[in-house]
Amino acid sequence: METLITTAFLMTFLLWSYSVLSRNFLHETTPSGSKKSQANKQNRAILGLKLLSATIVLFLGCYAFAHFMVPAPPETTERTSNIPGTKVINHKHDGKDGPTLEGPFPFMQDKNKDIQIIPPHLIKTYFTDVAGLAEAKDEVQDIIQYLRDPEEFGRLGAKAPKGILLHGEPGTGKTLLARAMAGEADVAFIAVAGSQFDEEFVGVGAARVRKLFDVARENAPCIVFIDEIDALAHKRHAQDPSWSAQSVNQLLAEMDGIDDQKNAGIIIISASNRIDAIDPAVLRPGRLDRHIRLELPTLKDREQIVQIYLDKVKIDKSVSANKIAKITPGFSSAEIANLVNEAAIIATKQGKGAISMPDFDTAKDRIVIGAKRESMNISAQSRKNTAYHEAGHAIVGHKLNAERYPIYKVTIGQRGPSLGHTAFEPNLDEGSATFNELEALIATQLAGRAAEELIFGEQNITTGAENDLKNATRLAHNMVTRWGYSKRVGPMYIGNNDKFLSQELIEQEVQAILSRNYQRAKAVLIENSDTLDAVAAALLEHETIDAKQFKNIVDKK
Ligand code: ADP
Ligand code: ZN
Repeated sequence: METLITTAFLMTFLLWSYSVLSRNFLHETTPSGSKKSQANKQNRAILGLKLLSATIVLFLGCYAFAHFMVPAPPETTERTSNIPGTKVINHKHDGKDGPTLEGPFPFMQDKNKDIQIIPPHLIKTYFTDVAGLAEAKDEVQDIIQYLRDPEEFGRLGAKAPKGILLHGEPGTGKTLLARAMAGEADVAFIAVAGSQFDEEFVGVGAARVRKLFDVARENAPCIVFIDEIDALAHKRHAQDPSWSAQSVNQLLAEMDGIDDQKNAGIIIISASNRIDAIDPAVLRPGRLDRHIRLELPTLKDREQIVQIYLDKVKIDKSVSANKIAKITPGFSSAEIANLVNEAAIIATKQGKGAISMPDFDTAKDRIVIGAKRESMNISAQSRKNTAYHEAGHAIVGHKLNAERYPIYKVTIGQRGPSLGHTAFEPNLDEGSATFNELEALIATQLAGRAAEELIFGEQNITTGAENDLKNATRLAHNMVTRWGYSKRVGPMYIGNNDKFLSQELIEQEVQAILSRNYQRAKAVLIENSDTLDAVAAALLEHETIDAKQFKNIVDKK
């Protein structure tokens, strides 16, 4: 491309000088006579031919000159930016488009304290490269709109978003999502890690924060990505020396200054897997007040992620994205990427022509042992347990209280520490509920445990129901002590005041509510045992089922 442009320039220049010269020449040889027009015509035709061949010769000459004499630009260039101590790195990837997915980003591991800037035209990561995370992508649409055209965004007085906090376990795609946002908005991506702001000397961290925002202003519109923000803005303690908060204070001051016109077009995206360790001042309204949690991928998401990485390796017929997704519950996206790579290495070492399913099994075992993470290695039995537990909640809830709490979705995929989850659509105005609704709610909460007992026997009930028991007990306690639903206690408000009645009576009444509803839950499940089996089977197959799938199963039985 560069060669062609240079050629065109050279040619234009040469043709121009030639035409100037020849005009002079023509003026001299053919003075404006009248009888010689015939000869003139012939002359012109010959001249035209000459010109054409000259042009071709010229073009070839120029092309050769440009090609051999003008050096090609280097593949990776670095130039210092206008701000001392920072540099712009141009990574040119193989081919025009570059890879759409880049592994762990090299600059994040860079120990040096430079602020790294990737200009828009070098960002080749887009939302299509980010599998799953549909809700997160949705939630950041306005930020992308804003970055694309800050002025248009503010036309009707809408306030510019400031930034967001992405939180979630390592490898869930926080960095990838931030980078893809820069790609979608076509703006620069400026990345730092919180640990770069360590205060080795008093004031150094604050100065770095200031520099970061200078860089951002110079490159706006842009995304400033602060990884591990908890390292920069950790919770302050009373005994901390006063200067230790300088970095955080500087960060707060810069963030508050973003409303200024001169700071338009700067969006901060911070990431952390320890939201509890972050200074609350940073998360307050008007600062990083939008928090998006990136969950571990669901079965469907995992299938997509696996597919992205399978497309890059050679597999045989025994392998499918769906099969791999099924053996990787609890894996993060990064771990899935790692799994495919491990499997490729294993197959290569054995001299195979393609990766087969057993290679993925071996790779999985290695990763699970390495990660020492319990949730990654849920046994088949435990999955089955969770499936029946959740199916129990869903069925009893549906049979007893469908109008008040319609099922929204049921899942046995992990969310945080819990194994499964049954979500009911929240269509209640908490304020008031009837006795019947409360009883049904308690039965629903106890139904997970009831299902476990029915299917696996009393000896095999797991500890998974702790939260359910806690919620049901709290509700039953309120029924007795606040809402006057116990006949023996009568319509009396007790609250937490134990002077009124013996604790024993209250406990007996709470117990009575809990046990009658536990029995009721069991009765409903026995009556619908076919449905219970079917819903559990669907969960084992799909991991998550939504309201529609659930109703289909229930209606069929
Ligand atoms: P985090 O910042 O949350 O620790 P990263 O964004 O650095 O995680 O993810 C590490 C790698 O895992 C990415 O470079 C990418 O290869 C892969 N990855 C993570 N999330 C996804 C996703 N949603 N879709 C595809 N690949 C992903
Ligand atoms: Zn439960």
